[in-house]
Amino acid sequence: MISNRELFLKNTAQTSDSPRLLEIDRAEGVYLYGPNGEKYIDLVSGFNVSNIGHRHPKVLKAIQDQLDRFMHVTVYGEFVQAPQVQFATELLEVLPKTFESVYFTNSGAEAVEGSMKVAKKYTGRREIIAARHAYHGSTQGALSLIGNEEYREAYAPLLPEISFIDYNQLSDLDKITDKTAAVIVEAIQGEAGVRVPDKEYMQALRRKCTEVGALLIFDEIQTGFGRTGKLFAFEHFDIVPDILMSAKGIGGGMPLGAFVTPKEMMDVIKANPMLGHITTFGGHPVSCAAARASLQVIQENNLVQEVDQKADLFRKELDIPQIKEIRGLGLMMCLQLENFDQVYQVSNYCASQGLIIDWYLHCETALRIAPPLTITEEEILKSCKIIKEGIAKFC
Ligand code: PLP
Repeated sequence: MISNRELFLKNTAQTSDSPRLLEIDRAEGVYLYGPNGEKYIDLVSGFNVSNIGHRHPKVLKAIQDQLDRFMHVTVYGEFVQAPQVQFATELLEVLPKTFESVYFTNSGAEAVEGSMKVAKKYTGRREIIAARHAYHGSTQGALSLIGNEEYREAYAPLLPEISFIDYNQLSDLDKITDKTAAVIVEAIQGEAGVRVPDKEYMQALRRKCTEVGALLIFDEIQTGFGRTGKLFAFEHFDIVPDILMSAKGIGGGMPLGAFVTPKEMMDVIKANPMLGHITTFGGHPVSCAAARASLQVIQENNLVQEVDQKADLFRKELDIPQIKEIRGLGLMMCLQLENFDQVYQVSNYCASQGLIIDWYLHCETALRIAPPLTITEEEILKSCKIIKEGIAKFC
């Protein structure tokens, strides 16, 4: 019989020449299980998706209840479906009052696409500014904002009238002018290797956007839903963006994204022409039911409040000279090593010892630490022990 690994290589799209080929049979809490009894602690969370762990029972129950009612119906603007309107209402309740309307998408990149369209139409301007080293997704609009020229060049031509500023660089804010429709930034740059901006910078960026009438769009696709020790990372900077984009951790493991805006801003997609932004599956009832349950789990279990203590334990345990720097906020962390070879060897060693750890798309010299927020002290200690063994062997 042909194995699943062979079928994977033969019949599914490959995104690199050296896939990890880790076969997953099931997942539960912070653990992933292979088909031959392998058991791994998951320190990647499917790239910041599984904030409440895998297959949380409350999410499973919400999904099952929704499956018993209906699965797909028209998801945007016409039909009233309870999981979607209830989740939108609950999400707005935990956000500042300026946020008044939620548009649901399937993914992060689609939230980026919708936000760009709203910003252009609302301001009547065409220029969008993004940050160097940014990652906002792989669709052509989102890719136009990627702060890595190699990726833009490979798929050119992309969107016109996009320009770039250096992230966390006050002097570059002068490039934001009254021609700028929007500035799109990650609240913390993730794939660049977890770059945390200064509060002073974010506040100056907010002021500059307000001054010239440009919208400030925050990409909280990685940072949202408790990951950084606040429900959303913008809270760290005492500012409120004009548009908030979310995905990944929003859906409790189900595919969902969203962008949230003031009502008059979102209303631009209603007319001239009507149906200015539509989607067949975005805000799917089953995903919204899962998202409601997931937000409830985060709130009822005080998961956000526990993040800093857990992050401190990682930092204390991993305070060793071979790790040049530990960057991050809360449980969005990275361990800076010297080169990719070390990162590769250490992550392979960790996998052989039952720990899944990874690196960053645009920072291959750093290890990614982003466990489910439900990880326990004992699991953190075990994880750090394995990482330190790997580092002792290969760094
Ligand atoms: N924005 C950020 C900061 C991301 O990290 C990602 C995905 O990694 C995206 C946007 C794109 O999200 P998706 O892969 O759901 O399209």
